[in-house]
Amino acid sequence: MTVTVRFAPSPTGQIHIGNARTALFNWLFALKNGGRFIQRFDDTDLSRSKQEYADGILYDLHWLGIFQDGTEYQSRRIETYEAAADKLRKAGLLYPCYETAEELDLRRKIRRTRGLPPVYGREALALTHEQIAEHEADGRKPHWRFLLPNFKDDPFETERTEVTWTDVVRGEETVDLASLSDPVLVREDGTFLYTLPSVTDDIDMGITHVIRGDDHITNTGVQIALFKALDAEPPAFGHHNLLTTASGEGLSKRTGALSVAGLRESGIEPMALASLAVLVGTSENVEAVASMAELAKRFDLTSTSKSASKFDPDDLITLNRALLLQMPFSDARDRLVAFGVTGDQAEPFWHAVRGNIEKLADAANWWRIVRDGPDTQPEFSEKDTEFVRTALDLLPPEPWDAGTWKLWTNEVKEKTGRRGGMLFKPLRLALTGLESGPELADLLPLIGREGTLARRP
Ligand code: GLU
Repeated sequence: MTVTVRFAPSPTGQIHIGNARTALFNWLFALKNGGRFIQRFDDTDLSRSKQEYADGILYDLHWLGIFQDGTEYQSRRIETYEAAADKLRKAGLLYPCYETAEELDLRRKIRRTRGLPPVYGREALALTHEQIAEHEADGRKPHWRFLLPNFKDDPFETERTEVTWTDVVRGEETVDLASLSDPVLVREDGTFLYTLPSVTDDIDMGITHVIRGDDHITNTGVQIALFKALDAEPPAFGHHNLLTTASGEGLSKRTGALSVAGLRESGIEPMALASLAVLVGTSENVEAVASMAELAKRFDLTSTSKSASKFDPDDLITLNRALLLQMPFSDARDRLVAFGVTGDQAEPFWHAVRGNIEKLADAANWWRIVRDGPDTQPEFSEKDTEFVRTALDLLPPEPWDAGTWKLWTNEVKEKTGRRGGMLFKPLRLALTGLESGPELADLLPLIGREGTLARRP
């Protein structure tokens, strides 16, 4: 069977680095196993779901290097869910309930004071036809619960019922169905909650592995029971740990915290984000991995830690720097064109500056400095002014190459007696207007003799 996975966000906001982790875990798993990746939008909540969010998520995934083999929208599959719900109703596994939220709340409180677990007591199962007819006559609409298989003959006599699976991330996992309330699958207004559509889709789309956050572990117990109720073999499940901010807070699509789009706009490279999103909270070192194929080699579901993982957004900058430092010109060329970095000098320029930038766009600043001189005129003491002038008078004739800097500064050293910082600092300042930056030996031939002379203080 072809490995088939899916990434199933609700399009209710921008995805963040934690969602990217789920998407990447699925993508890398598919990549490693020659499998398929389905993009599924869980958009049954029509009031909160928006096409623009779905479009944004697709854009984010493609930018990251994730390309789906198919795209599905739950809102277009409602009839399929109706059919699944009918099948359950016919089997007596989906029953109507009329309680209001307040009634349920009161019952929970009563159960608690009696020392019973605060789960739904299945009172609606005991409703007679007359009582149901009365509710309907009063205009009350039912919501529908799935009868969990946690009893032998009498649904009011629940007993410990373990659902066990070998989680592809966490190993052996167990959920006791007697500890849960029968889940509501259909709301009063006839709309579906996530549980049944998800299982129906996983069956219809031939999903072999459901890989998602560990906040879904309990759902998995319920969903395995649902697969069986619908006469289907459950897929394999894997639950990865969630990412939290340094202060331990969860990430939310709604707040836009650390959104993929925001990070992209701030100049983070896709592989910096992917490297952090995948490797943090695993036994692997968090390192800048330059390609998805390489990341797939490092990726091992079972090395994922079981507890939530804090991460530091500043690590993204460190990874970004590391990626840019390794980035070959062939990868940077097309993007540099957007900053006007073109022509014969583009390649040596890239090699000169790539180790001194945080974001690729920072290269534009260096290009301007190399071509037009310092952004602000450097201020020199009288002595340094004199020194720089003397040094410029000693510039060797062109052609210039990587050895010119050494040749020139040796000559300057000899003639002026200056050395170390006294020698190099004023020259760097004169050439770039800045106290630090790329190797001057690399910049000098790019600036050229004429350009260098034009920097005379
Ligand atoms: N829409 C669900 C979520 O975003 C999908 C969970 C799943 O992968 O089944 O949490």
